[in-house]
Amino acid sequence: MLVTDALAISRLDHVPTWFGIGGGAERFATVRNAGELNRAMEADPALRVLGDGANLLVDDDGVSELVVKMEGELADWVIDPVAGTVRVGAGANLPKLINETVRQGLAGLETLGGIPASVGGALVMNAGGKFGEIEQFVVRLHAISRDGREFTLERKDIAFGYRRSGLKDLVLTSCDLQLAPDDAGAVRKRLKEVMSYKKTSQPMAEKSAGCTYKNPTLEHDIMDLHDANGRAGRRVPAGLLIDRAGLKGLAVNAVSVSDVHANFFVTRPGATARDVISLMEQVERRVLDRFGVQLEREVVVWSRHGQGRQR
Ligand SMILES: Cc1cc2nc3c(=O)[nH]c(=O)nc-3n(C[C@H](O)[C@H](O)[C@H](O)COP(=O)(O)OP(=O)(O)OC[C@H]3O[C@@H](n4cnc5c(N)ncnc54)[C@H](O)[C@@H]3O)c2cc1C
Repeated sequence: MLVTDALAISRLDHVPTWFGIGGGAERFATVRNAGELNRAMEADPALRVLGDGANLLVDDDGVSELVVKMEGELADWVIDPVAGTVRVGAGANLPKLINETVRQGLAGLETLGGIPASVGGALVMNAGGKFGEIEQFVVRLHAISRDGREFTLERKDIAFGYRRSGLKDLVLTSCDLQLAPDDAGAVRKRLKEVMSYKKTSQPMAEKSAGCTYKNPTLEHDIMDLHDANGRAGRRVPAGLLIDRAGLKGLAVNAVSVSDVHANFFVTRPGATARDVISLMEQVERRVLDRFGVQLEREVVVWSRHGQGRQR
């Protein structure tokens, strides 16, 4: 273990992700406050932030950059149940925050029930779905840039969109959210409804990174999808395209397209990151051949090799 100015850096054989597979990190550190994060940034300005690992595939060869995980002060929250305001660290666990805000009778975050994430990862991905997106509750974000500058971004200056935020190059440290005081029982009931929808529509018990692809907006009509409103300009579920291309159950070794939800790729013991990428390449090629639609990956791939660096 290397210790630089009280920052303990160790090696991680496997970066923990929801896929449950993939490579490690040559250098890993837990950062608990702004000082430790600054020291990490000085040690490696190209560092990567690990959230909950729920949208992440790490290449089998691992990564060479410093990987940091936020805990302590960087994962704390302060909730004002009367005003409905929340100040929360980027390392906080989103499902735990949801439970706490629901318990305190604040409405809003229950719409994100069942999404595994850190708050930072949820903001970067603008996590959400059928019931809402995290951007709806954001007032401002606090971040540091790669050269160590701390700054604040107001909601209006953030380019939130469908599963994007334009924030990937920054390191988010905390955010301010505005929720609505409400009846705790009513909010809890809505959370239960959201959770039960997720349980019936997604393979929650299997190892995956959620949706592999973003839902594409069609550039042309697709005749085979007219029953599902497959007209130019409409956003259609990527899972529908994968399903209609006959790819449910398609497998590469121990990775397969889920039978429950075709946009989920699920892994079994023995799977490798290379298997996931190979399955992605097959699915992308076959959906392109069948429907003329190029799927865009939602899952973030960390790799030390080629094809444009993803953080
Ligand atoms: C079973 C399951 C269901 C899912 N359902 C949904 C769903 O309904 N809707 C949805 O949107 N997503 C869903 N997902 C995907 C995932 O939950 C989200 O993308 C989530 O936002 C990922 O957050 P994370 O903290 O795990 O990020 P990670 O996977 O750890 O990281 C993702 C990216 O965010 C970056 N990042 C993380 N924290 C920070 C930070 N503080 N500063 C800068 N960059 C950071 C990472 O470096 C990486 O590039 C699901 C995943 C699973 C496994």
